[in-house]
This record gives sequence, structure tokens and C-alpha cells, in this order.
Amino acid sequence: MAHLDRAVAEEQDARDPLAFARERFSVPEGLIYLDGNSLGALPSGVRAAVLDAVERQWGQDLIGSWNGNGWWTLPERVGDRIGALVGAAPGQVLCGDSTSVQLFQALTAAARLRPDRRTLLTDAANFPTDQYLSDAVGRLLGLEVRRVDPADLEVGPDVAVVTLSAVDYRTGRLWDLEAITRQVHAAGAVVVWDLCHAAGVLPVDLDGLGADAAVGCTYKYLNGGPGAPAWLYLARRHQRAADLPLTGWMGRADPFGLAGAYTPAEGMARARIGTPPVLSMVAVEAALEVWDGVDPAAVRAKSLALGELLITLADGLRAHGLTVVTPREGRHRGSQVSLRHARAYELSQALIARGVVGDFRAPDLLRLGLAPLYLSYTDVWDAMHALEEILTTKEHEAPQYRRSQTSVVT
Ligand SMILES: *Cc1c(COP(=O)(O)O)cnc(C)c1O
Repeated sequence: MAHLDRAVAEEQDARDPLAFARERFSVPEGLIYLDGNSLGALPSGVRAAVLDAVERQWGQDLIGSWNGNGWWTLPERVGDRIGALVGAAPGQVLCGDSTSVQLFQALTAAARLRPDRRTLLTDAANFPTDQYLSDAVGRLLGLEVRRVDPADLEVGPDVAVVTLSAVDYRTGRLWDLEAITRQVHAAGAVVVWDLCHAAGVLPVDLDGLGADAAVGCTYKYLNGGPGAPAWLYLARRHQRAADLPLTGWMGRADPFGLAGAYTPAEGMARARIGTPPVLSMVAVEAALEVWDGVDPAAVRAKSLALGELLITLADGLRAHGLTVVTPREGRHRGSQVSLRHARAYELSQALIARGVVGDFRAPDLLRLGLAPLYLSYTDVWDAMHALEEILTTKEHEAPQYRRSQTSVVT
């Protein structure tokens, strides 16, 4: 690329303090994977852990594994491990079910903490499931659901809950968690953060923020695998008062009493619902080992530097109709860069054909996720070089890349 030599990226790789972490993943040879914000790559240790859970724990130890192999305590154990990555002291994060289910739990419990207020605010650009569940909880509890732009958030005296995603999944914009949390609390409301696109790439300090509740998935930057269970954070100060709507037997104070009325367990255990997906949770637990000895500040620094390199290279392609949608300022940026182009879909397909996997979000965004643990600076350079060649030769206008169906969102 004329305006930035590959040697610049090679030099950055040579100085990369996180270069060692790539060995902890099985990424196919020759593939440049820029979709870790949708489905994270496979950590090398997962295969053996899942095989052990199937063959030894299930195959040999059978029912004894609930205690003998620690299946019973997996939701709390994995929850605490995730908590360490999002600034939550132990006993406040529980792993289980999908993000959508956890949003329902969190939003309902949060609204019930402010029973005299009748409004729930969410972002008009929030991920669809966050909006649908906001509406569902609104219908259930008789709340008015209002969609707002987090850039000019106003929290009136009737607002019970504000729920936002830390990072906009389309544009990659990062909101100011601290300022917003402070503003919501000043208005007497509670905040539910969705950290799907933040956990594992941004230093989030939920306890330090004084956040009330949060949710996140584990299959994006936490690399837990397809359909891996999500997590719920409930600040300790709210746990006793939290009236969670899904009262399954595993969250009962005495789960083996198996009779009588539901009394919630003490602490975070009340967020347990039913039998957890053990095999998936074993995979998540093994996947989290890639964080051993990894400095979160180094992850953020590399994520921002990869983004800067990508933006610089994208700026060189402006003449081809490509524009950068993601904010340039680091403090407003998550860990992806979204590029706008009228033929973004065709570009994403032509890139995939060249072994560069990003994704497309309708109507015109090419989304490139930057997972600092397994991505190098030369990966970014090579990906953008491929994009330049495609644009220059108009490779993406070939008939096989024409759009025939919509892609799956996440
Ligand atoms: C990925 C994502 C989800 C996914 O929800 P699931 O129930 O896990 O399918 C929800 N919200 C946001 C903001 C996301 O980025």
C-alpha cells in the first residue's frame, strides 16, 4: 500500500507484548479472522476440556459428576472468572442461559427496584434483542419504553431503568460508561449495561462504576464457542431485593427440598434457573484460561493500535468510496472498525474468498472486529491490502458476490 509500508506493521508485531497469546488459539492457517466480535476463535485448551467432560465425566462418572467433577458449581465458578474480566468482585456474576434470557432477568429485576416509576429507556440503535426484550418487559410491567440516543440522554424523574450497550454493535462506538452511570444514578434510576461487545476487549470496572446490573455473552471476545451461555451481573447491594422473574428450582434456597413455595437462595445463586448446559459451560471455563497472565491494559492498548492502523489504511481508500464510520478518538471506540461502502456486502464476500473474514451489516457496513489476543498488525495490513486489491480490480463486482440473502446478525 503506497501510503503505509507493510514493514510498519511488521515492526509493531515485533514489539507486541501480547504476541505470545496467539499460540493459545487454533486459528486456521492462512485465515485472517476479523469476526471475533461475532464468534470468537477456538482456544486451544477447549477441545481437551470438552472431550474430558464427555468421555470421563459423563461417560464414566455419570451422575456423580454433579459433585465429583464440579458441575453443580459451574455457573458461579465460571461467573466469578468472567467477573474478574469486568471488574466484579466474586459472588456477583452468574453464568447461564442466553444473553436474551439474562436481559429479561436483569431488566425485570431492575424495574422492580423502582416500582413507583413507569419508564424504561433504551437506545434506538441497540441490538434488536435488547430492544425486543425492553418492549416485552415494558408490556409485562406496564412501563412506557422510550428509545433514545445515548449521545443526548436525558433521564427524567419517571425513569426506572436505563439499558444500553456499552459498544454500538454496528458502528463500534463506545459510550462513556462512567458518565452515563453517574447521570442515571443522579436521576434516581438504575442502569443495566449490555457488555456483549465490551467484555474481553475493554477494561470495564462494574464495581468501580457502581453499576446496578449487567449482561454479556461469552461467544464473542470471550471465545466460549457457538451458543455458549451468557452471564448476569447483579451488584451485591441489590441481590437481596432483586425480584428475578425466572424462578427455577436451581435458584431456590433449598433446591433439593423439591416442594413448597419458592424462596430465593442467598446471594447470586438466586439467579440460577434450571439445569445449566454443562458441556458448553465447560468449554467457556477452558476458554477463559487464555486470559491467564494477560494484562487488560495491554489488550486495550493493542485493540486501539490495531484500530488506528486499520483506520489509517482505510483512509487511503477513500477515493474508492470507502468511509470510516467508527469514531476515530480512542475513548469513543470499542474493538471493531466499521467501514461504509455502497457495495459493502459484495466487498465482504470478495474478502472471504481471499481468506479475510469480516462481516456485513445492512445496509452498507463492512464490520471488522479486532481481537487483540489472536490478531497481528500484519493481519490487519494484509486484510486491508486485500481490500485495496479488490477495490482496484473491481473483483467484488463479479456475479458470484451478488447479494442473494441477508446475513445473520450478532
Ligand atoms: C451478541 C449480542 C446479543 C446476543 O444475544 P443472544 O441472546 O446471545 O443471542 C445481545 N445483545 C447484544 C448487544 C449483542 O451484541
